[in-house]
Amino acid sequence: MKSLTLQAPAKVNYRLDVIRRRPDGYHDLRMVMQRVNLCDIITLTLTKTPGISVTCGKKGVPDGPGNIAWKAAKILLDLANQGQGAIIDIVKNIPVAAGLGGGSSDAASVLMGMNELMGLGLSDERLMEIGVTLGADVPFFIFRKTALAEGIGEQLTPMPAMPAAWVLLVNPGVHVSTAWVYRSLQLTNREGLAKLPELFRSIEDICSIFSNDLESVTVPSFPVIAEIKETMLREGAAGAMMSGSGPTVFGLFRDRESAERAGTVLTDGTGWFAAVAETI
Ligand code: ATP
Repeated sequence: MKSLTLQAPAKVNYRLDVIRRRPDGYHDLRMVMQRVNLCDIITLTLTKTPGISVTCGKKGVPDGPGNIAWKAAKILLDLANQGQGAIIDIVKNIPVAAGLGGGSSDAASVLMGMNELMGLGLSDERLMEIGVTLGADVPFFIFRKTALAEGIGEQLTPMPAMPAAWVLLVNPGVHVSTAWVYRSLQLTNREGLAKLPELFRSIEDICSIFSNDLESVTVPSFPVIAEIKETMLREGAAGAMMSGSGPTVFGLFRDRESAERAGTVLTDGTGWFAAVAETI
């Protein structure tokens, strides 16, 4: 039986502008997205008989057909139509429903991995077209570059090179529903979108674009998000912001030690999830 082990990374949003509500219920966005090396580990095994099994064993993540990784495998197995099946094991290191894109990344890895295991030869562009039917952030994880993501997130353009940074991720574990966030958002009439720089020479240049429209919904209801940002900045972060629809807050640091120190300050006595990662 052919098998493959893949790392599915998390993402953070350096910028998230909500531009307009679309008639189909989605929103047109402008995001800057970067991958970080906090990864789920996915082992894919191709079987000679049909059927898909997904085991994850993480609270809040369904095993079986409810898992987005199952849906990704199903699409490629149906496309191949060779009577094969798949066994998918996920070690979930990325916090769930946290604004870090974990499920989307798992789905992207399964699409890329099944394409390889079955020798389908589908291009990244084709996999991205399939990916967007599973979730708006899936194409970004197939793109595999720091990106400007427009439309619902599927129109991707590479961003200029950015200096590497240490990223502290802290999830206070409050439950934030993505649907509620978008439903509650008051769209402001903008004059135009802030222009993004063409050169990123320093971590400060990266932080100069930090902005997340969704914080206007989450912060008033969950002040802990603003508190974590303030603590990160006090502990030496060059910038700190909520990722996606939250509740995870991330800070960019120049060195690993200060990121770890800030993580200790924030997790001491709170029991919150914290991880230090590198941008990739
Ligand atoms: P985004 O940043 O794209 O909004 P997120 O990090 O907020 O994503 P996910 O962790 O991807 O959210 O999960 C959202 C929901 O999807 C969860 O409630 C979970 O039950 C379901 N789900 C299905 N499959 C997976 C998976 N493989 N990993 C995580 N969640 C999954």
